[in-house]
Amino acid sequence: MNSEKVVIKHEGNAMPYWAIEVVQIFNGVALFDITGNCNSFTVNGKNPPDINDNHELKRWLYVFLSELTGYSSPWGCMTGIRPTKIINTLFAEGHDEKYIRDYLEKFYLVSQEKTDLAMETVRIQKPFLRGVDTAVADWYSNIPFCPTRCLYCAFTSHAIGQYKNKLDDYLDALERELEATAKLHSKVAEKAECLYLGGGTPTSLPEKQFDRYINMFSKYIDISSLKEFALEAGRPDSITPAKLESAKKAGVTRLSVNPQTMNDITLNRIGRLHNAMQVRDAVKMAKEAGFENINMDLIAGLPGETPEMFRHTLEEVRKLEPTGITVHTLSIKRAADLKQDEANKAVLDAEMTGRMVREARAFTAAMGMHPFYMYRQKHMVGNHENVSYSIPGYESPYNIHIMEEDRTILGIGAGAVTKAVAADGNISRAYNVKGIEYYLERGDEMMKKKRELFEPFSE
Ligand code: SF4
Repeated sequence: MNSEKVVIKHEGNAMPYWAIEVVQIFNGVALFDITGNCNSFTVNGKNPPDINDNHELKRWLYVFLSELTGYSSPWGCMTGIRPTKIINTLFAEGHDEKYIRDYLEKFYLVSQEKTDLAMETVRIQKPFLRGVDTAVADWYSNIPFCPTRCLYCAFTSHAIGQYKNKLDDYLDALERELEATAKLHSKVAEKAECLYLGGGTPTSLPEKQFDRYINMFSKYIDISSLKEFALEAGRPDSITPAKLESAKKAGVTRLSVNPQTMNDITLNRIGRLHNAMQVRDAVKMAKEAGFENINMDLIAGLPGETPEMFRHTLEEVRKLEPTGITVHTLSIKRAADLKQDEANKAVLDAEMTGRMVREARAFTAAMGMHPFYMYRQKHMVGNHENVSYSIPGYESPYNIHIMEEDRTILGIGAGAVTKAVAADGNISRAYNVKGIEYYLERGDEMMKKKRELFEPFSE
């Protein structure tokens, strides 16, 4: 290795996530991808071992940086987003639990706490997984609108007010794509088991358009075979009794009402423009409309939140008796407004976020919930994870399948991704355009890409 200094960029105390990826080793110079920015440097001082093994070098660099900064990541040097997929693959290869625990702890340097969490999640997932299943294809549909845009949002979503004159055009384009994709579905799989309506916030559509949207699917897909028909109703200010009635009649089985926090001061800070009372009212309304399976999303590590505030959120949510709670760790992605917001970034705290994540696990366990799906992202405060907990029997199979990548998922709508999973586990993807105007114009082109994706399936 050449003799140069390692330059490490600190961006406040929210940033001790060393997601380190060895990109290339070239002439003794290691190129790393750190926290998503492509940095190139050489390492000396403490000489890395003379290795050509990326994994070993990655482990060495992690230990090196850990000693240098005094920070250890709970997930060690694991950088992938699917810890449970790694474990499920190792089980499928015939390894036992002891071997897998050792592997996580020695190969990736994962903490025992996270190893326990991942192992428990895999145990709960087991009845849902039966290897790659090409007889089934699940569906995802995207409504890229929300009442406003949250400070941390990096999804394809726009404030709906700007597009109110385009909503019918959007639904027309979506219906054309649904019809064409349903024809494709009948060629590549026998049935659909999960239909997930996400976004954005589908319930941000006005009542008339929402009713059209929610009833669109049964025109083209046999929804009698569905094991899950899930609807994101994330923003409580977008929910009305009429929309809930439409959803119930259309066959929706799982609803997500997502407060993120039950602290009004934070809701205001993150640009949600609703309050905790509206969350309570929305859940009450959903129950009155006959929805039994209600998940609520929370975020640990929101700007300005303390563990006490997070505990308050958990306690308020418990009173509403949801069947599931999904706990995300705040992630600061490039496309989020928060990325540029120095004042709000400055109050993030990795140590406190760790306490919140631990508290959520204990709290949900006390509510009789277990973790059934998890994933990690880059740029998470404190480098934790997102976990969905549910009362047994209320797990979301769609969420498990999307992470374990064991079946094809057909995506429609702006920004949706279609993932083709072949019998040998090989995965290929087709990406829809994200911009609304492009989506309205380029339907044929997107369908062509989707059909090409499945051509090898018919050989
Ligand atoms: S509700 Fe979700 S999709 Fe909509 S703006 Fe907020 S984070 Fe983005």
